[in-house]
This record gives sequence, C-alpha cells and structure tokens, in this order.
Amino acid sequence: MTVFKKIIDRQIPADIVFEDAECLAFRDIQPQAPTHLLVIPKREIRSLAESQPSDSALLGHLLRVAAELATRLGLDNGYRVVINTGADGGQSVDHLHLHLLGGRPLRWPPG
Ligand code: 5GP
Repeated sequence: MTVFKKIIDRQIPADIVFEDAECLAFRDIQPQAPTHLLVIPKREIRSLAESQPSDSALLGHLLRVAAELATRLGLDNGYRVVINTGADGGQSVDHLHLHLLGGRPLRWPPG
C-alpha cells in the first residue's frame, strides 16, 4: 500500500485542503515552493503512464481541482502543475499525483 493510500484511508495524517468524491488535495510534506499541494485521485492509479482512456474524465477533474485550488489560494501570479511519471520522471510514490506549485517564480527547464 502506498503512503498516499494511507492518507486517503486516514491511516496517517496529512494537511488536507480539499476533498470530494473523486480526489483529495493535501500539502506536500517537503514543500518545494511556498504553496506545494498534491492532488490525487482516491482510486489507485499507479502513474499517468498506467492511466486508461476511461480515466480521461477523472484526469480532467484533477486538473480542474488544481486550478480551483490555485485560485482559492491566491496564486494570481501563476503556478505550475507537474505530474512526475516513472523513474526518469522522478516519480517516487506509485499513486498518480499532480503537484501544484506556486508562490515564487519557478525556473525552466526543471532539473
Ligand atoms: P513524486 O516525487 O512521486 O512526484 O512526488 C511525491 C511527493 O510526495 C514528494 O514531493 C514528497 O515530498 C511527497 N510525500 C511523500 N511522502 C509524503 C507523506 O507522507 N505526506 C505528504 N504530505 N507528502 C509526502
């Protein structure tokens, strides 16, 4: 079981900022920016690479939740949404998640 599944099941604590029937958003334990949230589906999908065409509505919902939270949290100057995928993508938790980063200028390209 991944650490994110444990957060969904309330087996370990997290600073949860949003929840609905499909997803959960909480603060990253090692924030890389003043605002750093993770938006995850409640359904276990290991990565973007392993998502299916039938997950399209859910993936769109996660993006819309990220945008709504960015507005709610006042990221009016912009923000970044990142989905690290697989080993080369730097994915460390095998449960699909969107990073929502903001509150400072973000450089490009990432490392
Ligand atoms: P990845 O590297 O897979 O794209 O991102 C995983 C993220 O999950 C990392 O930014 C890491 O800090 C975060 N993370 C790992 N374990 C925990 C945890 O127990 N609680 C929270 N809130 N974040 C976690």
